[in-house]
Amino acid sequence: MKSSELEKKKILVLGTAKSGIAAATYLVKAGAVVTVNDGGTPSEADVQTLESLEVETIFGSHPLSLLDGTELIVKNPGIPYQIPLLQTAIERGIPIWTEVELAYRSTKADWVAITGSNGKTTTTTLVHELLKQGSRRVHLAGNIGFPAVEVAQQTAADDVIVIELSSFQLMGIQSFQPVSAAFLNLSPAHLDYHGDVTSYAAAKARIFSNMDEAGRLVVNADDEEVMRLSKTAAAERLTFSRRQPAYAHVENGMIFVGQTKILPVSELALGGGHNLENVLAALTLIEPFGIALTAIQDVLRTFGGVAHRTEYIGEFAGRKVYNDSKATNNVATEAALSGFHSSIIWICGGLERGADLTPLKSAMTHVKHVIGLGETGQRFADLAADQQIASTVTREMEEAVVTAFDVSQPGDIILLSPASASWDQYKTYEERGEHFIRSVQKVGGTKK
Ligand code: ADP
Repeated sequence: MKSSELEKKKILVLGTAKSGIAAATYLVKAGAVVTVNDGGTPSEADVQTLESLEVETIFGSHPLSLLDGTELIVKNPGIPYQIPLLQTAIERGIPIWTEVELAYRSTKADWVAITGSNGKTTTTTLVHELLKQGSRRVHLAGNIGFPAVEVAQQTAADDVIVIELSSFQLMGIQSFQPVSAAFLNLSPAHLDYHGDVTSYAAAKARIFSNMDEAGRLVVNADDEEVMRLSKTAAAERLTFSRRQPAYAHVENGMIFVGQTKILPVSELALGGGHNLENVLAALTLIEPFGIALTAIQDVLRTFGGVAHRTEYIGEFAGRKVYNDSKATNNVATEAALSGFHSSIIWICGGLERGADLTPLKSAMTHVKHVIGLGETGQRFADLAADQQIASTVTREMEEAVVTAFDVSQPGDIILLSPASASWDQYKTYEERGEHFIRSVQKVGGTKK
């Protein structure tokens, strides 16, 4: 939508925080008549920004009267469609977008988009690093960057925007059409929001719903559900796999994209089998941009990952240490565990949410010692006992790290991959990861 099309339009922005504030700011500039509604209490900073924008605000509830005269709703991805306000809006045929759609319509730049249950941030960051080596100006939007609509305002027609998209964001697109998109994998997460796997999968599949033959869709050959859902895509569909023949694949330890030899797997800075999948996806996404091979190789040799996602911390007393604090569920931890081929000292556990831990068993083949931590620590120790693997239950991070160095030897891997949320002991997974790194630096001595 051109700014002129937004002029005088009555638009309801639902939700504050980063994306709501960015949407309201953009819409006010474009001349729309904006009302901002938040069911809770926005932060002090958000209230101040909204005051300076001079928009109407309603906080604490979602009265249906908000819909009177409303021509468009721009909603925060986290707000469920089940609330009465949105149900009524749907009945009345009022379009409901997320800020991504707004962003898309406000720029002529090209979009490269990444979705999936796991690996979005890593792949998005790597794509951004790779595209920076080319001649076009490239921007990062989404979770780790700035809100899409804010980024879009800084772009010229020849620029590229790389964005990671959650299913929540994809629910609210209408015409969004990336030039290159990846659908990495699908696991039944976020069910409390979507209600069932089908609607979760359908939301993710929207990433390619507007793409035509000129677009490139990158999909995981090893994920049956992704393959099935993308079968009808109009875009050119290219596969990646670390296990079987695919467009981007591995042959005798060498990464190939099509016929092009890229780099031996052994030279990748990123660790873990799942990260190899992210690399294959990223390389396929950027292929049409004509980045020089030597520049691609340089990035792949140095890009060690995003903080807290199987992030390589360094070698301490001969042990390679990885921080995977972001792994708050089984799938993420399984991926991390199965990516290593040396003995692993596995630090795990955190908030008790009653998850079934048995699916982790098959990924524990290289685990030599389990160090349980937090509320679920004992359950992880029980899981280890079940597999005849040694274990220790600890109360806090530094004790866990001391134990990890005690029970390991040079050549081993020390991995924090909790398969649990951090809220039993920390405010965020970042805080937990940082405490782990500090403890390793203290206990493990100088990094090699
Ligand atoms: P997202 O942004 O989708 O949450 P991240 O890149 O932040 O993904 O990684 C989150 C967690 O998922 C990390 O702990 C990482 O070990 C794991 N992970 C990363 N890539 C993959 C993948 N391709 N398949 C399975 N798990 C993955």
